[in-house]
Order: sequence, then C-alpha cells, then structure tokens
Amino acid sequence: MAMEINEESNLVYKKESGHMKKTYPCVEVDLAKLTHNVKTILAMCNEKHIDVSMVTKVFCAQRPIVEAILQAGIKSVADSRVLNLKEIYDLDCTKIMLRIPMGSEVHNVVQYSDLSFNSELATITKLGLAAKDLNKTHNIVLMVDLGDLREGVLIPDVIKTVEKIIEIDNVNLIGLGTNLSCYGGVIPDKANLGKLIELKLDVEKTFGLTLSVISGGNSSSLYMVMNNTMPKEINQLRIGESIVLGRESAYGRPVPNCYEDAFILKGEIIEIKSKPTLPRGIIGMDAFGNKPNFKDKGIRKRAIIAVGRQDIRLEGLIPIDKNISTFGASSDHLIIDATDCEKELIVGDIVDFKIDYGCLLAAMTSPYVEKYYHHLKNPC
Ligand SMILES: *Cc1c(COP(=O)(O)O)cnc(C)c1O
Repeated sequence: MAMEINEESNLVYKKESGHMKKTYPCVEVDLAKLTHNVKTILAMCNEKHIDVSMVTKVFCAQRPIVEAILQAGIKSVADSRVLNLKEIYDLDCTKIMLRIPMGSEVHNVVQYSDLSFNSELATITKLGLAAKDLNKTHNIVLMVDLGDLREGVLIPDVIKTVEKIIEIDNVNLIGLGTNLSCYGGVIPDKANLGKLIELKLDVEKTFGLTLSVISGGNSSSLYMVMNNTMPKEINQLRIGESIVLGRESAYGRPVPNCYEDAFILKGEIIEIKSKPTLPRGIIGMDAFGNKPNFKDKGIRKRAIIAVGRQDIRLEGLIPIDKNISTFGASSDHLIIDATDCEKELIVGDIVDFKIDYGCLLAAMTSPYVEKYYHHLKNPC
C-alpha cells in the first residue's frame, strides 16, 4: 500500500483502492509534538553529557516515526525485537538490541544491530560465532542486576563474567548497563547507579580496559537528570515512554515542556442507546471469565465503540472529553458513558482518547488499528 501526503489536512493516509478513506479505530500520531518532545529531552540530557538512545518498541519502530525522530536529532535507536530493527535497517543511526538476545536469533542480532545488551555467556559465545560467520565484530554491553530482578548478572558475578567475555572472539565489550523499575519497580538512585559506576571502575582497573558506555536505565532514570542528581559517569539512557508520552516513569510526573498527547486513539460509535446500568438476569461470568460487579447509576446513555481488548488496554484509556467515562470492554466492544457529554453523540461519531504506555503498546501492535501520521506545523 502506498503512502501519500494529503496536503489539505497534512495527514498521511494509506491509499486504498484508489480513494482516500480514513478507517477506525486508529492511532493518530502528531509528529510535530513528538519531535518537540525529542528535542526537549535530548537537550536536557545532552547538557549533562548523556546520550539518548530512543526506544522504539512501544510504537513497533514504525518507519514514519523513526524518520521523524532521526530528523529531530536522535542518533541511536533501541528496540527489544530484532524484527523491528530489521525493518529500519537502512536508516542511518546506531541500532541497539535491548532485550537479551535468544540463542536462536544471534545471526539476526549481529546482522541488524550494532550493539546488544547481554547477561548470558552461552549467548555471548553464540554471538561471537555468528559475528565470525558474518565477518563482523559485535559490540555488547553487559547488563548488571542492581535489584530490580529482571535481566542482568548479579553484582558479585560481574568480574568473573567479564573475564570470560574478553576471551570470546569477534565480541567487543564496550560497557555496563542496568535496567530498573521494570519488574521490581526499584527506583534508580545514587546508591544503585553508584554501584554500577564502582563496577565500571573495577572492571577497567582489573582488565586494563576502557568501557565507553555506562547505560543508566530507562524513562525512570530521567527524574535524576531533571533534578540534577544523575552521577556524571552515567553517559547513556534508553528513553521510550518519556519522549512518547511526556512522562518520567519513576514517579509518573510530567516532563516539563513536553506533550502528553502526541499519540491519540480514535474510535467510532456503532450503537448509542439509553439503557440501565444494572444487567438483567442471573450474573455469571463475563467474556474474560471474571464475575463482574455493577453500581446502579440508573438509566445512562451508553455508546458502543468498535474497538476492544484485542486492540487496547481498557485501564489505559483516558477519554479526552472529561464528561465521558468508560463502562467496560470485551474483545471487540468498548462501552462508554456518554450521558453527560455536552455534544449530542450519534452513531458514526468519533471519540478521542489519550492512552497510557500499555494501551499504546497494544494499539500500535494491533493490525486492526490503523496508524496515521500528522505533520502539523507549529504545534505550540
Ligand atoms: C523498554 C526498555 C527501555 C525503555 O523503557 P521506557 O520506560 O519506555 O523508557 C529501556 N531499556 C530496556 C532494557 C527496555 O527493555
């Protein structure tokens, strides 16, 4: 399908069978707002000599978005899926494989990324063999678990792991990294990041190496840049959520001077009727096997929107019209309360939502949700 820019509305539409038609549900991406966020966060980090690798997984490394962020000054992108990196292989930037690679994908990792994050010697050995096959040297960062209990070698194992890594051909250890606030919700601070710095100095001294990268986390580390507590030795962050949704993720606070609505979900009303709020009959299980609970709010105007849990996360939807709330959702139907809406909604009307990280991830991944990219000028 060809992409075409509609000059009048500044929207990129997918051209289908000769005529332009917008389809729903869709995510509309305001690239001007997004690039504004990129520039704001890049400036904030670069001032502290921190490189930003922009994490593209939440929008599946969609090409129009990646092109826009590169234009805005991003030099490095990171994704957890090698398939996403493959799709943007030809774009001029450093590519990082974020998720610890599977042994079964090492050839693709070496082929499509410049650097991967690792924690297992068996896999690093395979990466070395794949790199040899492909006549390359593959750069790696060793991940250290500082307490969040997702990926990474434990602190006492760092030195002996490095000792083994430096013996592996075609692999080049360029740094240490850590990931926090993902599984355990552990907040990055001077104590845990300080430990990472100590380890870096220890490795450099023990093996006479220079480690050029100390990767100090994701959007949950940004608050330390904002409040000037980030140790100066941390020289890389991998940032997704803060750029995409304008929020740091340690405390969920807005990042100053960033947009929180660069991504909007839109859905179409397929039914709107006044109905009671209490179902009638004997209540068993809902579509997902839960026993539902209802509060009686009397007769309400209920609209069904043609989008469902296959495409969204109900809990992550925030109707832009503050007079709208959500009742619930099954696989393909979202029910909203439109009673207090000032505008008289009718069948065919479009309802707009802000979305959280999980909801955006679902919507961008769903093939049932169309994606449109705005090029609005002067969003401010
Ligand atoms: C997803 C991910 C990130 C980015 O996280 P955000 O919260 O979106 O900034 C960074 N590092 C790793 C290892 C990740 O898996």
